Amino acid sequence: MPFRSGFVCILGRPNAGKSTLLNALVGEKLAIISPKPQTTRNRIQGVVHVPKRKSKGKGNDGGQIVLVDTPGVHKPDSSLGRKMMVEVREALEGCDLVLVIMDVTRKFDPRDQFALDLLRRPKTKAFLILNKVDLIREKSKLLPLIEQYRKLYDFAEVVPISALKRNGLDTLLDMVIATLPAGPAYFPEDQITDQPARFMAAEIIREQLLLNTSEEIPYATTVIVDNFEEGARLTRIAATIYCEREGQKGILVGKGGLMLKKIGTSARLQIERMLGTKVFLELYVKAEPGWRDSRRFVEELDWRRQLEHRMLEHGTPQNVTPEPRPADPVEPTAKGVDDNRNPTED
Ligand code: GDP
Ligand code: MG
Repeated sequence: MPFRSGFVCILGRPNAGKSTLLNALVGEKLAIISPKPQTTRNRIQGVVHVPKRKSKGKGNDGGQIVLVDTPGVHKPDSSLGRKMMVEVREALEGCDLVLVIMDVTRKFDPRDQFALDLLRRPKTKAFLILNKVDLIREKSKLLPLIEQYRKLYDFAEVVPISALKRNGLDTLLDMVIATLPAGPAYFPEDQITDQPARFMAAEIIREQLLLNTSEEIPYATTVIVDNFEEGARLTRIAATIYCEREGQKGILVGKGGLMLKKIGTSARLQIERMLGTKVFLELYVKAEPGWRDSRRFVEELDWRRQLEHRMLEHGTPQNVTPEPRPADPVEPTAKGVDDNRNPTED
């Protein structure tokens, strides 16, 4: 069998375990994993290099899987939501295979149906991935579930896994490789993601926001990196956290700036680990009412499209460098700058 390669989408309702699976397969922390749903706002690609593996009657001849993590499947409710749905559809159309991931501990609900409806339109080849089987004691309980799902869609394979415990993943990889067309490696082996480092820095900051705040704050915020200067030993990053109301800004900054400091310090440590340099991180908070519905915002979040344009221009997905963002679109407010400055280099 030849070397095989292709694009594989992961589809499923919020909290099904899409990011966990992506990270388990790619082996690095790429997408945000959070107990709160809908934290993956952009499509995130990871690349899995699958080495040739032989075992009795199984195994594969090697291949490369480019994984796309779709935003949580949900009904669109704002301009950001609608955009996400467009992205999900686009993602599906460009894929060789879709992994529909279901949480076996949850009842099938309209959001799962919504995921299946999305599939039906492009008539995509799909595997059903039953995730979180570590939480089911009696595995025979899975059988009626499998029957039920098979009636809803013509899945090519049904694969029970635990993304968290990394069970069943080798089998899954073998099956995926066997399904993909013969093709080249799209990415060099040392490259696990096509995401610009600055985008990943924003994701790390957002993850810290999610971990440190509660209630409506996570859904009301987004992070934009305004400046990213990578040096051999020090990387300077300035980022703005946008929220919707002054009250939220107050919570994010915290008493005496403590909350912002906490978020900034944790994020800085993680970004340092990712980049392997020291990081000087400046964080700002700005209230921008209605950013979710603002076209400008949604477009600025769209780092991926910029990347794809570059790929088209250069004709190769390799050696992609991120598009520099236009200079300073986010001018911190006069009130925002000084009291919210948070240089976290200790
Ligand atoms: P996403 O919204 O689909 O990307 O879901 P995440 O990957 O962020 O996972 C949501 C939650 O489910 C997190 O708390 C994960 O730790 C948890 N989770 C994911 N996969 C498994 C699994 O196989 N077993 C268990 N027990 N928990 C899991
Ligand atoms: Mg996710």
